[in-house]
Amino acid sequence: MKFLAVILGLAVIMSAEESTSAQKKILSKLKGRHRTGLPSDGYDDSLNVPGQKWGVHDPERPEPWVVAPGAKVGDAPSDAIVLFDGTDLSAWQKANGDDAEWKVGEGFMEVTPTGSIQTREAFGSCQLHVEFATPAEVKGKSQGRGNSGVMIMGIYEIQVLDSYNNRTYSDGQAGAVYGQYPPLVNVARAPGEWQSFDIIFEAPEYDGDEVVKPGYFTVMHNGVIIHNRVESLGRVAHKDPPVYAPHPEKLPLTLQDHGNPTRFRNIWIRPLTGYDSDE
Ligand code: MG
Repeated sequence: MKFLAVILGLAVIMSAEESTSAQKKILSKLKGRHRTGLPSDGYDDSLNVPGQKWGVHDPERPEPWVVAPGAKVGDAPSDAIVLFDGTDLSAWQKANGDDAEWKVGEGFMEVTPTGSIQTREAFGSCQLHVEFATPAEVKGKSQGRGNSGVMIMGIYEIQVLDSYNNRTYSDGQAGAVYGQYPPLVNVARAPGEWQSFDIIFEAPEYDGDEVVKPGYFTVMHNGVIIHNRVESLGRVAHKDPPVYAPHPEKLPLTLQDHGNPTRFRNIWIRPLTGYDSDE
């Protein structure tokens, strides 16, 4: 496989053979990302960045992956796992493993009273993009209006609700970490209009039954920050304080059936990795 790179106006053909064997393995393992493999510059005689094993401007520090961004903001980048592209529910199932039965319309899916749906694949820490539209025909009030939910790992919920001139308890309105934090602002669009959530979730870590690192949510609603790395206080609960209970490192993402025909489209996810990561 060949990558074409342009340095200082010179076209240089670089082959994968020039990569280290470890990089070769990674290149074959990961979809939608690559490294240029171009030589770095830097300084090999500088002190370390505090708390890190790398020197300042260290030329040996691993090159970040190259990812192609989506054509426009909100579109899936090249390394995203697309969970719904508007055509089919193949990435989704019911909790019992049966095929998901929500309605698929032209470019969207719609909640039907067939139960919540969850991804076939499991995820932990992630970046998640979800678009939703609450019903254009306004029915009900408070929690009965356009209610659904984006349940990360099936248990950490960002509330989906029609919060356009629809007052409810603040920690349960659109964008709330349900039962824990109201959104910083109410930036909801009108019923029937498409809206977006961009969610960065850091999964909690357990040592046996003990939480050694809580989960964290950072969320943008329609491009506006509504949670700035807030600490999750535990799994979602209704009318009860949240508590942590141990669970696997990865679990399916759930979209909630709350009895309202809310719509979803353009759903994609990227597992979160650290700096200098080969994963
Ligand atoms: Mg809900």
